[in-house]
Amino acid sequence: AKGKGGNSLHFYSQQMFEAFQDRLALESDLKQALLHNQFAIHLQPKIRLTDRRLQGLEVLLRWHSPARGMVPPDEFIAVLEYAHLMIPVGYWVIEQSFEVMAALRSAGWRDLTIAINLSAAQLNDVKLLAHLEKMLTHYELPAEVFELELTESMLANNIEETIVSMQRLKQRGFRLAIDDFGTGYSSLSYLRQMPVDTIKIDKSFVFGMLDNQADFDIITSTIAMVRKLGLEVVAEGVETQAQCKTLIQHQCDIGQGYLFSKPVPAAELNKHLLKHIDENGQ
Ligand code: C2E
Ligand code: CA
Ligand code: CA
Ligand code: CA
Repeated sequence: AKGKGGNSLHFYSQQMFEAFQDRLALESDLKQALLHNQFAIHLQPKIRLTDRRLQGLEVLLRWHSPARGMVPPDEFIAVLEYAHLMIPVGYWVIEQSFEVMAALRSAGWRDLTIAINLSAAQLNDVKLLAHLEKMLTHYELPAEVFELELTESMLANNIEETIVSMQRLKQRGFRLAIDDFGTGYSSLSYLRQMPVDTIKIDKSFVFGMLDNQADFDIITSTIAMVRKLGLEVVAEGVETQAQCKTLIQHQCDIGQGYLFSKPVPAAELNKHLLKHIDENGQ
């Protein structure tokens, strides 16, 4: 490790320094985003495949940054977590979700559920349940209309504690879903112990299911297993009629994806659009 090695070491540390600076800038922009209301929620319909009716909506966070443009959540959720901002932003998302649900119900949509993504930090937050309770009282809503989505990877560390948190939410009446199923580490034995209502099959399997035998086998056997456990199964990332048809043939309960609708800004989710999706859910 003479001249050349020294240079590459210098080069790498320069790169690391720049990456670190980018990260700090992103963190500082995210703090501003929270202060200046640059976040928004979009809602994506979920369709019951047996009757093609609207079953519910998933809440998806968006960031309209004045400097960076529209930043996708995959690029900032991890930074929010790292910067301890996920809990306050998560509270805001929860509040918005209650707001939407209250509006939907007063507009006559009484059977819909709303799915909210929770991060690991949120699930471990000791104040989460109290906050949700407060929202239920304030908006006079039943807990059963909310489904809290947890990813498999959140279960990787401290699974016992995670199950206890889940049980508390379940006892209060919230529905629970495992998101991105098939991509994480959770083993089937834990699935048995977790008080979940719904399994969401990750979209990567749906994308491949008609071209790739392994993806097809994973999809069909997951649907069969989940139904056998008495749980509800959702396929996400449904983009084509052909995928939808195959999912119906294999008795998948619910579909979500661009075939039915992209995520829609909350402000555009008026009764015409909902009615249209409900009646034409393909
Ligand atoms: P996710 O929970 O798995 O959400 C589904 C993602 O798939 C969304 O991406 C959605 O827009 C996208 N999607 C839905 N249907 C299709 C389709 O047919 N084709 C394709 N190509 N994509 C489809 P999005 O909105 O970019 O969100 C990415 C991830 O960010 C989410 O994945 C979730 O893990 C996280 N996220 C979003 N909002 C929140 C939030 O409020 N809290 C937390 N903790 N995480 C969130
Ligand atoms: Ca989700
Ligand atoms: Ca997912
Ligand atoms: Ca995902």
